[in-house]
Amino acid sequence: MSHEGIRLVSADEARREPERELPREAVTPAKVKVQQSTGEGLEIEWKDGHRSRWSFAWLRSACPCATCHEEREAQGRLPGEARSKPTTLLPMYEAPARPESASPVGNYAISFKWNDGHASGIYSWDYLRRHCGCATCPAAAE
Ligand SMILES: [Zn+2]
Ligand SMILES: [Zn+2]
Repeated sequence: MSHEGIRLVSADEARREPERELPREAVTPAKVKVQQSTGEGLEIEWKDGHRSRWSFAWLRSACPCATCHEEREAQGRLPGEARSKPTTLLPMYEAPARPESASPVGNYAISFKWNDGHASGIYSWDYLRRHCGCATCPAAAE
């Protein structure tokens, strides 16, 4: 047996970052719709014909920036998993996540300025496609 191509990946890592390369058409959007006025979410139609949808709440909790990533690691949350409510004495009202604006980043990503002021997440097409929120993608079953 050859050891070539064998990479040691922790089970955790393997679950989060699928090894497979996605075909170019699968990570190239044909149409990007930010349903800002309705508050529904983000919809992307890819070059390979697949259609993905994510709610803004999911996107906000899946923010890929380093700070949010570390926070998720620390709490053992998967991208998109809502953070557990902080235990404070005063009940806090949290406005549903909505972007105040969305802008393209180069030709590989989109970024949002959220209504809570957070704006450092860069959502690459690859990241989004790997976390496709549709009913048929395996990622959705996780
Ligand atoms: Zn973030
Ligand atoms: Zn899908």
